[in-house]
Amino acid sequence: MSMFEDIPVEVGVIYEGERIRRKDMYVELGGPKQETKFELVRVKPLDKLEDEKITVIGPDLKDVQEGSNIPFGVYIEVAGQDLEEELEGVIERRIHEYCNFIEGFMHLNQRYDIWMRISKKSFQKGLNSFNYVGKVLIKLYKTELPFIQKIQVTFLTDQQKVRPMWDQAMKIYEARDAKARGMKDEDVDTFYGCTLCQSFAPTHVCVITPQRYSNCGSISWFDGRASAQVDPKGPVFAIPKGELTDPEKGEYAGVNEVVKKKSLGAVNRVWLYTSFGYPHTSCGCFEGTAFYIPEVDGFGIVHRGFKDVTVNGLPFSTLADSTAGGRQVDGFHGISIEYVRSPKFLQADGGWNRVVWMPASVKERVKDFIPKDMVDKVATENEAKSIEELRNFLEAKKHPIVERWKAKPVEAVAEVAEEKEAIPTVAVPELAGVPITAGGFKIILKDAKIRARKVIIRAIKAEEKKKR
Ligand code: SF4
Repeated sequence: MSMFEDIPVEVGVIYEGERIRRKDMYVELGGPKQETKFELVRVKPLDKLEDEKITVIGPDLKDVQEGSNIPFGVYIEVAGQDLEEELEGVIERRIHEYCNFIEGFMHLNQRYDIWMRISKKSFQKGLNSFNYVGKVLIKLYKTELPFIQKIQVTFLTDQQKVRPMWDQAMKIYEARDAKARGMKDEDVDTFYGCTLCQSFAPTHVCVITPQRYSNCGSISWFDGRASAQVDPKGPVFAIPKGELTDPEKGEYAGVNEVVKKKSLGAVNRVWLYTSFGYPHTSCGCFEGTAFYIPEVDGFGIVHRGFKDVTVNGLPFSTLADSTAGGRQVDGFHGISIEYVRSPKFLQADGGWNRVVWMPASVKERVKDFIPKDMVDKVATENEAKSIEELRNFLEAKKHPIVERWKAKPVEAVAEVAEEKEAIPTVAVPELAGVPITAGGFKIILKDAKIRARKVIIRAIKAEEKKKR
């Protein structure tokens, strides 16, 4: 007897990674069209919760218009004798995994960036109420994390109710993030790793240190520690950091060893504080990307919520495609906003002296962590919308990058990324550990090189499909 026999669609790992395109979706929850959306887990005292209670505040799935986008919040309260507040972040991150187990339910991102879709097919099969989603979440949480003794799930689709909860959630996220600030990577013997995103990027391993927050921005070093203690066989695990072989780039013998094992040999070395050489891999749910701008030899930063194109004319989605997939790509670096606040942020590349552009909203969020003399030297979309405007701005503000131009002609700076000793470059069309999913199989190409004079990608017409 299946544990999900009262759910109208199937539930299982095989549905993880399922993409739902706009034309196939019944409804979209949150996402870029909604400014306020969230998912939040809070630990509560045992006597304060009504176990397995599911509440829907606002229109339920069957009441929303087909093809629409609605405001959305998921609020989960958990209780248990061994539960501590430090586990909230990790329990919250599991919403992503568990929702993706549901046939025809796509969950992307985390915290205030959530973006979900439910397919028409699954809606027609009967997935027409959030109650079913709540039931699945409750069953999975209680089975996978047995230290959760009681759980309540609330879905919010009424904008009037989502907004105030979102305000609260933002404060809670900030308090969680602030906790590890001030701690140094040198102060601890153990880092933590996470492979939760391997269903999307099979070679990706997050290395979470006090000064390098996870890419998704939802798991801190404290969260990692709490999770590895209560669920040692889970996706979050301890990494004894071992010998520090390069303090500038952030290379640790223990990190290399564990990442090699957890990426099944696809990634052998990781330099934690640089975007070149052996950078930390990026899955697909990073909060933002640091991207190299060869024309000025500096870095731009862009976050998921930025709707315009960046200073190099590319939108977040294109830059994210170049970054994602569990690869080590020179100059494209998946990051959390909290990592931008870290003194180790791109330390080996010059840190803030190398950052030249970022959206005004992100700058506002991290401005207290930018060295005072650099705050006005980093352009936003308000000062520079093109590379030419950026160059003029940097020169006018005497950004330290300008000195680098004198030392190295700007035409040559694009080559900087290639100045590395025998480092395997991952560039199109060379593939390393890139998964190919087709016909129900997942093929991982390890250290493969595919060369083609021309690549043509075209849709298969209906008649052609019939012939096959
Ligand atoms: S981004 Fe990293 S820390 Fe966050 S869920 Fe994915 S693998 Fe884990």
